[in-house]
Amino acid sequence: MLPLIELLELAGRPSTVQVAPEEYIRLLGYPRGHVLEGRARELADWARQWYAEHGRPWFYARQAESFSIEGASVVFDDVAFNSPRLRSMLREAEAQSVVLVAVGAGKEAEEESRRLWEEEKPDEYFFLEIFGSAVVEHLTTTTGARLCAWAEDHGMAVLPHYSPGYPEWDVAEQPRLLKLMQRTRGADFPSRVEVLESGMPRPKKTLLAVFGVTQHRERLRPLTSLIPCQSCSFGPCQFRRAPYRRAPRAFGEQVGGREAVLDANGRYSVQRRALARWAAERLSLRASNEGSLDAVFRYEGTTCTNMGRPLAFDYHVKLGPREEGYPIRDQRCAPAAGDTGHVHMCQYLTDGDRLMCAIEEDKPLLGQRLNAVLDWHPPMSAAGCFCEPPSRARKWALVLETIHFALVQQESAEDMDIV
Ligand code: SF4
Repeated sequence: MLPLIELLELAGRPSTVQVAPEEYIRLLGYPRGHVLEGRARELADWARQWYAEHGRPWFYARQAESFSIEGASVVFDDVAFNSPRLRSMLREAEAQSVVLVAVGAGKEAEEESRRLWEEEKPDEYFFLEIFGSAVVEHLTTTTGARLCAWAEDHGMAVLPHYSPGYPEWDVAEQPRLLKLMQRTRGADFPSRVEVLESGMPRPKKTLLAVFGVTQHRERLRPLTSLIPCQSCSFGPCQFRRAPYRRAPRAFGEQVGGREAVLDANGRYSVQRRALARWAAERLSLRASNEGSLDAVFRYEGTTCTNMGRPLAFDYHVKLGPREEGYPIRDQRCAPAAGDTGHVHMCQYLTDGDRLMCAIEEDKPLLGQRLNAVLDWHPPMSAAGCFCEPPSRARKWALVLETIHFALVQQESAEDMDIV
């Protein structure tokens, strides 16, 4: 195993868990896009509320100190496990390390479910039981997302998790895996967990998993089964490499009782991490009374010549109502108040009025829905100035992509409150 920069260990008890409504609905067995109503909605609201008040979720993650493949076994910290599938996954991705992860919804929800069953309240039992499963899925996803962020910082990538009981990994190895995980490094293991002889954990809403980590990110591209993002519902992820299979994809799809109007998994021309930073630092969004939305994006760059003078331009975009798909009703770009750099651009020095008119007249995608930016691919241009049409088009694309990204995040958060 190659030495890694630091050995990771995380442990915690999140104060809230935001199980996405569509994930809960899926686990309840309803078809995609189903909207809960009447008694089912009451029960779902009740289970969510009960868990918010009484549930005690937890997670633990520890990078193994050593990892090797020896014959048919994978060996973590000198403990051998026999899973042909996990072994081939780690080998194909040339994994250098593994992270051992345990998550749990806590014993409280399980005890309450048992009590409800004994009181002959099967509906309440079922909804709370499934909510516990949704919490475990959510914790696995968010713990995986923490690992992904850590791996990205170290130039690595995380593989899909694998657990005893999955195909080609005998659940009988679960007690050994738990024992290994409980050899914590500095943190306390956050919850009391045991594994019965059958391999079943107690509390049963507990998941033990192994995540491989590789420095060979390029190897994953053709090996799509080794990219975990397709089954990862973590909406705000900045590093996503593949669309989430169950996520809203297209304009018009029903999501939690309303139509999706932005493609949440569209391909942007720049990394989501950059869009997230620009959305936080450069963009402001303000809703108006008539249902429209005003966005202002501050661009800061430098002139390409004349000693690279700083430039600041404001992009103003007016979007129509959400239910119409955020049509672009107006857009304009102009030097920010107090900017003096623009007068040093080459074309400004040649014919300032002409250049400022051209900047003013650029209104790409005017009248179209904001989602159209995903299908607009102006040529790449690295120029920081506004002299040539390609460099202006490229900046507009980045501005509209940033607005699209910010609204997707906002919509994902709202969707969580809809059920
Ligand atoms: S979307 Fe992919 S990169 Fe992001 S947290 Fe999920 S698995 Fe990790």
